[in-house]
Amino acid sequence: MEAAQRGIASVELIAVTKTFPATAVLEALADGQRAFGENYVQEAIEKMAAVESRRATRGTTAPEWHFIGPIQSNKTRAIATHFDWVHGVDRPKIAERLSAQRETGRGDLNVLIEVNLDGEASKSGVAPDEVAALGRTIVALPRLRLRGLMAVPAARADPPSQRAVFAALRHVAERLRGEGLPCEHLSMGMSGDFESAILEGATMVRIGSAIFGTRSAREERETTT
Ligand SMILES: *Cc1c(COP(=O)(O)O)cnc(C)c1O
Repeated sequence: MEAAQRGIASVELIAVTKTFPATAVLEALADGQRAFGENYVQEAIEKMAAVESRRATRGTTAPEWHFIGPIQSNKTRAIATHFDWVHGVDRPKIAERLSAQRETGRGDLNVLIEVNLDGEASKSGVAPDEVAALGRTIVALPRLRLRGLMAVPAARADPPSQRAVFAALRHVAERLRGEGLPCEHLSMGMSGDFESAILEGATMVRIGSAIFGTRSAREERETTT
């Protein structure tokens, strides 16, 4: 943090609670944590309901929910209804559905575009050269607010290669801002590489296991819907 010469307030922690119970959210809320990340829609909705009923009696502030998982088109309505932020929009069809399905009475849904920095066809995310076009599509849609970019690069063990890939995302964001698109947030960095992400300009880090402990493979499988 000091090395990056940035105030701690400029990096927001998204506490990733996938596979962890509602009590984990309630405890973190009581400690002052506000933003929570979830990957699996059904698991998240159940957890939100459990948190909501118990939080109200304790008088704790409402959490802010971030959807950080892959987005299937049959899940967009639930995401638009229950979440405040969506990390990882990577195609126009998903953006259009989220826009159409976000209730008018609610605030705009905050959107980040997922960028594929590894260039593997199997990975989700748009290629860096296609980000601006998707950005213009999102900006033109009602009830969505483009806030920036996110990436889930393949895990790299050594800090220099971690930093290189995060710097690449920062460069895409700089290019977008140069074209007049709103792009103030960079959601990058997880338990294994968040220091490198912060050094390269992350404004949001998504951290699960470093806070809540390791998730078992069994839990991951059971909650993958
Ligand atoms: C699970 C997950 C995280 C958190 O990962 P940890 O290694 O537990 O910190 C962050 N981002 C995404 C997209 C995830 O799926």
